[in-house]
Amino acid sequence: MTKPDKITDKVRLQDAQALAQGYSPAIRAMEIASIVSFVALEGVLAYKLWSTHHTGPWMLTLAVVLGYLAADFVSGFVHWMGDTWGSTEMPVLGKAFIRPFREHHVDEKAITRHDFVETNGNNCLVSLPVAALAVAVPLNGPGWVFLAAFLGAMIFWVMATNQFHKWSHLDAPPAIIHFLQRVHLILPPDHHRIHHTAPFNQYYCITVGWMNRPLRMIHFFPLMERLITFVTGQLPRQDDIGTEAAQALVAVDDATEVPVLQAAKELLKASTEESAPSVSSRSSP
Ligand SMILES: [Zn+2]
Ligand SMILES: [Zn+2]
Repeated sequence: MTKPDKITDKVRLQDAQALAQGYSPAIRAMEIASIVSFVALEGVLAYKLWSTHHTGPWMLTLAVVLGYLAADFVSGFVHWMGDTWGSTEMPVLGKAFIRPFREHHVDEKAITRHDFVETNGNNCLVSLPVAALAVAVPLNGPGWVFLAAFLGAMIFWVMATNQFHKWSHLDAPPAIIHFLQRVHLILPPDHHRIHHTAPFNQYYCITVGWMNRPLRMIHFFPLMERLITFVTGQLPRQDDIGTEAAQALVAVDDATEVPVLQAAKELLKASTEESAPSVSSRSSP
């Protein structure tokens, strides 16, 4: 069986300079437009929530905390998608969305050199449909108000995610940021380091990282990868770490699969064996 440290030897990374050059003026213009639209929609939502009599402090606190957890999960899910599937050569998606993920594994300090627009533009863009939905929710009952507040809070934290992520890569963050990292209210550098260890296949959540352990316990991402490979035939991380390392990693995942999956395979095997005699009797002379 291939050991995980052997996979590290096989990992091949793309050229950092070529990846950084993929940041074009058109993408920057799109990012600026996204940030402006995002702030405008969040402003309208905050005004609507402020004006309704259904809003209370407890409801808002709950919406903000649940929104934080949801954003952490979303950050992990989107990060996993960007790290694992597709290639930088894909039209539209490749340059705008996949390139930053690949660049970040090759040159993890590049993010610390990105300005506000490059750091936060992408997350504002992907949050726009949710922002529009939150603004469109009719605020004519506590349930609807909570939903709008939850969606608004979640995308606020989604927007903050790459800023928290960037801070986790700073050598000497400002004192207040360092304090928030130490008490684990935003993504701590030590915690995020686990993701930056090749082959980059765990701890994807980068808002605060609270969801990383629970998701690892239930093998969430390996199970999702199997499902997607089953449906599409794609090899996870092929473009990021190279075919050889990606294949070796799948072999390791297969050997350490979760008990529930092992049980399912046993059941499947048993049912196939039951139907097997009829096939063999036909094929034997
Ligand atoms: Zn990553
Ligand atoms: Zn990082």
